[in-house]
Parts: sequence; structure tokens; C-alpha cells
Amino acid sequence: MDSQLSPRQRKVRVLATLGPASATPEMIGRLFRAGADAFRINMSHGGHDDKIPVIQAIRAMEKDFGRATTILFDLQGPKLRVGKFKDGSIQLPTGHAFTLDRDPTPGDLHRVELPHREIFEALTSGTRLLLDDGKLVLRVRHVHADRIETLVEVGGALSNSKGLNVPDVIVPMAALTEKDRRDLTFACDHGADWIALSFVQRPEDVAEARRLIGGKAALLAKIEKPAAVERLEEILELADAVMVARGDLGVELPPERVPPMQKRIVETARRMGRPVVVATQMLESMIQSPSPTRAEVSDVATAIYDGADAVMLSAESASGQWPEEAVTMMNAIAMSVESDPGYAARLHFTETQPDATTADALAEAAARIADTVSASLIICFTLSGSTARRIARERPSVPLMVLTPKLATARRMGILWGSHAVRTRDVASFEEMVAKAKRMALRQQLARAGDRVVIVAGVPFGTPGSTNMIHVVRLTGDELKGYGD
Ligand code: PGA
Ligand code: MN
Repeated sequence: MDSQLSPRQRKVRVLATLGPASATPEMIGRLFRAGADAFRINMSHGGHDDKIPVIQAIRAMEKDFGRATTILFDLQGPKLRVGKFKDGSIQLPTGHAFTLDRDPTPGDLHRVELPHREIFEALTSGTRLLLDDGKLVLRVRHVHADRIETLVEVGGALSNSKGLNVPDVIVPMAALTEKDRRDLTFACDHGADWIALSFVQRPEDVAEARRLIGGKAALLAKIEKPAAVERLEEILELADAVMVARGDLGVELPPERVPPMQKRIVETARRMGRPVVVATQMLESMIQSPSPTRAEVSDVATAIYDGADAVMLSAESASGQWPEEAVTMMNAIAMSVESDPGYAARLHFTETQPDATTADALAEAAARIADTVSASLIICFTLSGSTARRIARERPSVPLMVLTPKLATARRMGILWGSHAVRTRDVASFEEMVAKAKRMALRQQLARAGDRVVIVAGVPFGTPGSTNMIHVVRLTGDELKGYGD
């Protein structure tokens, strides 16, 4: 089907979290038009029932626009969270006493539930408890079997299910909670393209999640624990993508240590050819304001200059007042950075050495050929998406059109740098492949008559791992003749 939207003009992808401010079909459509390439459904909030209409809305929109769209389900992981409040939120004054207990009754100004048994045993008086990404600080005064009495050192607004970090204490918790396992099953049964695993600490956590997912979705590891940074390469080896989850990372660690970590994670992921998402507080002030701070714009720009595959919106698009404006702003920043003549040079500060494989040799060659002959597009045929990832890893100067017979593969491409994925019927011959590549390039408005395109494919067709061919061809513009819709 022809897409009603012109293709994205930028390489970096935009991942928008959906929530109360944006989970209607109408708003999802607006976010998509404004530039969201992928949507994150956060399993930390709400139940399964309220996710179903959201999934349906995304899939209906996908059909309307005729463009594969990515859904990422983010599992809460072993994250500590407070319970709910009677009025949804409270304003906690500094110097006030506040109790965390095991009573599921909605909380008030004096107390709230902390539904994690483990923590009651791990805390001692004097421990710092950080709430809502460290915005509020409590100091433990007394620990009882069923309640923790604290003093509010830094007060502020606290709402339902906000996160709690205990950076000074190791809390013994499994990589996937019971809730995560249920959510994972739900996500896989409802067409998740990606599953994000929170609070990964060890490669074994990723391996375990992979076993449970069983190939039904791709796996993104969220790096938000210092322990995960220490074993980054091993984790990346097992994951399909990674997220720099700066919210929790910046609470677990002093915030000034996050920027060097971000650089290191982005660089390592790029070297290893794993898509990398930079996330959290990117346009934080847009939760309340229709325009961001200059510093936030600069932060987004930095992630794009560093070559991140995707930038993410959290509360800005999930619960803020300006979800559409936040996506529009992400798009505008990306367009500005990517049209900077210095952008390409900065992007290639990270050198990516091809592995000694045919696929990598071809991926590297395709990017070079595209420059040498001033092609306007690289087109790759792929089953698993692996060839697309290896080409994107080269950060070519032109867009990458990913053609795949597998809808699941097309949908997974929404967080991959520079890619435009289209599901097509499989091809059976060389001629058919070239004809299809040309036709799709024109239809998707990614190339015009007279343009050269570089095609990467594998023979025999339909065989995974067979990438072994590059073909350069010029479009005449007649390719669509006889193929009217
Ligand atoms: P979260 O993850 O939004 O699920 O907490 C992202 C982060 O911690 O930065
Ligand atoms: Mn987090």
C-alpha cells in the first residue's frame, strides 16, 4: 500500500512512551504523524486490560498508514515502587515524618504501601531512600517488621507507583519478578515487537528473558544499574538492543557520572551493531511547558551527534500536557542536527570495524558505494533483519530501505537508525528482486527517477544468512508502469 505520509527525513528514530496523555487512537495518530517511529507501553503502570485498546489502536493506525510500526513493551523489572494514594498524589513537606508499610490501603500524607517484602529486611536506620528518580529523599529512622519510619529530607510531589531507589543497599531480587513473567506472556501474546528488560544486572538476566521470550519478540536490555555497565559487552552480546536508562542510572550513580557512561554505552553498542536508545528526561520540562529548555535541546542533540539509534520520550509523551509538541520538537532537533555539515564527521568518531563475515564486508561496501556513486538509497532484502542492522551500523549517509517478507522483522526496525522497513512478498529471481527494489524505492518516495540505488541481497533468495550480493542500479521512473495500485 502507498504510504499516506512522506518518509521520515531523519536517521535517528523517535520512541514515544504512551500513557494517559496519549493512549487514545487520535493522539497515537498525531504522535505518529509528528514523528514517533516506535511506541513504548510501560508495564509499570496500569493493568493488561487497558493495554489492549492501545495495541489495537497502534495496529489499526499501522494499517491506515501502511507502514510497519514498532511496539515496545517495557517490563517493570525488580524495581521498587511505592503503592497508590487516595487522591493519586500527595505533596510531601520537607522535615515531615513519613511511613512506608505493608498495608495496601491507598496512602495519604502520613503513609503509603511499599509492596516489596525484601526491602523490609535489607534496610537499617540511616539508609537513604530516593523517590521518583531521586527528586525526593527520605532517611530511614526505624525499621519494623511491617513498617519503615522515615524523615523527609527533601520533599515534593509524590504520586502513585513512583520508583524507589536504594543506592546504598543491595536488595536481593530476581531479574524477572512474577509480575514481569505475567507481563512478558501478555506482551508476547499481544504482538510485542520488542520486550525491554529493566534493571538488568548480569548477562544471565538477559539469557533468562530470552529463553522466556522464545523468539516471539526482540529483546532490549535497559542499562540502569552500575553492575550492568561493568558487564556491558557480555550483556550486549546476548541482547538485540540496549537502552541508556538515565533515570535510574542517574539515581543509582551520581548524575555527573552518567554522561561518560552514556558515551561509553552508545559507543560500545554501535561497535557491536546493537541499536541503542538514549532515554529519560530528554525534554523533561515539556511535561508542563510547550517549549523545552535550551539545555534539554542540547542534550537531545548530543545523543544524535553521538549516533544513538533512537531518542525516547517518557512522561513528556505519556502523561505530560504537550505530547505532540514533544515529538515535534524531537523531530525538529533531529532535522537540525542531521543537516549540520559537521554531523557526519562527528558520527564517525566512533569507528566500526567490520567483522570478518561476508555480510559485514557487504554492509561496509554498500555504504561506501552509495557515497562513491552518489546513490540516494541503500535497499536491503532481509529475513531476520540482521543484514539491516549491519548496514545501519555503518551509519551510511543515505537512508536504508529494509524489504522483508516477515512483518515481525519490519516491525522490529522502528528503533534502527536510518531504516525504513516495508513488508513485501518474497522474490524468487534476480530480475524480480531488482524490479521490486526499484518499485518500492519509488513508491516509498525514498528515491526518484534518475537516482542510483544500491541493493544488498542474498542468493538463494529466502535463505537466512545468505547475504552475498550488491547491485547498483539507476531508476528510470518507468518502474511503476503496469503496477498501478
Ligand atoms: P523507566 O526506565 O522509565 O522504566 O524507569 C528508564 C530509565 O530509568 O531511565
Ligand atoms: Mn528505569
